[in-house]
Amino acid sequence: MADIQVLDKTFVPFISKEEICQRVAAIAAQINIDYAGKRPLMLGILNGSFIFAADLFRGLTIDAEISFIKLASYKGTSSTGHVVTAIGMEEDLHGRHIIIVEDIIDTGKTIHSFLPELKHRQPASIRIATFLAKPEALQHDVKADYTAFEIENKFVVGYGLDYDGFGRNLPDLYVLKG
Ligand code: 5GP
Ligand code: MG
Repeated sequence: MADIQVLDKTFVPFISKEEICQRVAAIAAQINIDYAGKRPLMLGILNGSFIFAADLFRGLTIDAEISFIKLASYKGTSSTGHVVTAIGMEEDLHGRHIIIVEDIIDTGKTIHSFLPELKHRQPASIRIATFLAKPEALQHDVKADYTAFEIENKFVVGYGLDYDGFGRNLPDLYVLKG
């Protein structure tokens, strides 16, 4: 595989689509076991997770649903701190088994800020599936239950992840050169 250019930056091949496919299949297989008979609702966080969510969902052989939300973040009051609100969450989550699907857990801020709103809707359980995690960058007490790859604290694109809106359609994952 060759280096690629996304806008003004050069990226080098990092994780191939074959390796990605294997890990996603392994996670799907585990979810099939863990959630048999539970009819989980996968909740994909847009935009970044849409490709991972689609591949993961196709790997499920159990009864399962999928829905997508966008998270809008704003500064709350000094007592509430950073607040994240979900746009497009129309399902009744009460009593449901939720699997949040993320592209990457970096600092953990997004998920950490979103969990209270999600818990408020009283789901039966919440787990997190993330395509990538950067343990070195983590600043909040968030741990994914299913992680395809743990990576170094470097900027990556492809497989749904973007650089300034571009690069999401790359089937393989690339890392910023340098
Ligand atoms: P958080 O810091 O809240 O855990 O991650 C927030 C968001 O930052 C991720 O959902 C993702 O959109 C973006 N992000 C973090 N690291 C990277 C990266 O290496 N590449 C890309 N494309 N996005 C990233
Ligand atoms: Mg994201």
